[in-house]
Amino acid sequence: MHDIVDLRSDTLTLPTPEMREAMARAEVGDDVWEEDPTVKRLEAMAAERLGKEAGLFVASGTMGNLVSVVSHTQAGQEVVLDLDSHIFNYEVAGSAVIGSVQMRPVKTARGFLAPEQVREALRPPNIHIPQTGLVCIENTHNRHGGTCCTPEEIGAVAAVAHGANVPVHLDGARLFNAAVALRRDAREFTRDVDSVTFCVSKGLGAPVGSVVCGSRAFITRARRVRKMVGGGMRQAGVIAAAGVVALETMVDRLAEDHANARRLAEGIAKLPGLTVDLQSVQTNIVIFGVQRPAGPSATQTATNEIVTGCAARKVKVHAIGPTSIRCVTHKDVDAEDIERALDALREITSRW
Ligand SMILES: *Cc1c(COP(=O)(O)O)cnc(C)c1O
Repeated sequence: MHDIVDLRSDTLTLPTPEMREAMARAEVGDDVWEEDPTVKRLEAMAAERLGKEAGLFVASGTMGNLVSVVSHTQAGQEVVLDLDSHIFNYEVAGSAVIGSVQMRPVKTARGFLAPEQVREALRPPNIHIPQTGLVCIENTHNRHGGTCCTPEEIGAVAAVAHGANVPVHLDGARLFNAAVALRRDAREFTRDVDSVTFCVSKGLGAPVGSVVCGSRAFITRARRVRKMVGGGMRQAGVIAAAGVVALETMVDRLAEDHANARRLAEGIAKLPGLTVDLQSVQTNIVIFGVQRPAGPSATQTATNEIVTGCAARKVKVHAIGPTSIRCVTHKDVDAEDIERALDALREITSRW
């Protein structure tokens, strides 16, 4: 049980004592000179876990996606991706600014491109038309509430892209959540993609960082781009050390977060004025809708009332739209905390 139940994001996780200790003891060197043994260790571990030749430690998931897009493409090319994807919506158009690529967002049913959609989006050779440079996939899908796609679905999309000589990047910020939820080896999700980024700073609990993995040649290019965007860090082993602990000790426990998210979602589904699609609760994210039956406090929207009412009861939740709220479970939220969150929601909605 924690004093404050913080369900706003799994990025709010604090490093474990074991991580702090590993950070204090980390052997370090200048990583731009490729002389930091702890960074190298994390990169090698990540590459091994994802069945790729090499890894590159970056400051964030956003940086990982940016260096990946820029390393795969040339200026003026087009990147095919889902309309609700993180890269298209939440990365400050970095790929357009730094990579000079054009985004080709495609509206999808569940956040995952279907093979036919990729086939339709691929550009034919024609002097008037931008050429397709990359296809991006996201797993788990953030905006769709942590939903998973299977290795087979990824394989089908990759087959179409590769048939046109177009590489595929997987934004796997929460890839290990998908692997744990579907009980599949993480390598199966990455087998058919050319590059992948995952965050150690979310559910895995490390304070900083993501790792990009791919072929040795790709990582060599990505290392140059990382330097270009100011991501060449020096004694970065101090932070990479926590990432090593994250990969070693924090992956399997993600199942607890998924169980807590399910408990939370099932509780929310029973409350008046709140709606949740239980099928979409597959990992550690619960997105619920708020629809108060006409009530007295006309000045305050129901969504606001939930956010402020929860905060007054030491439960933090995050509104992601005028009528929707997102809760994310993580290692610093336990089963008792979930009950407290449900008690808070029950109290607030009981007055509606
Ligand atoms: C969080 C997230 C990112 C970006 O990670 P940051 O470390 O916050 O930059 C990228 N993609 C997805 C799907 C995410 O959820």
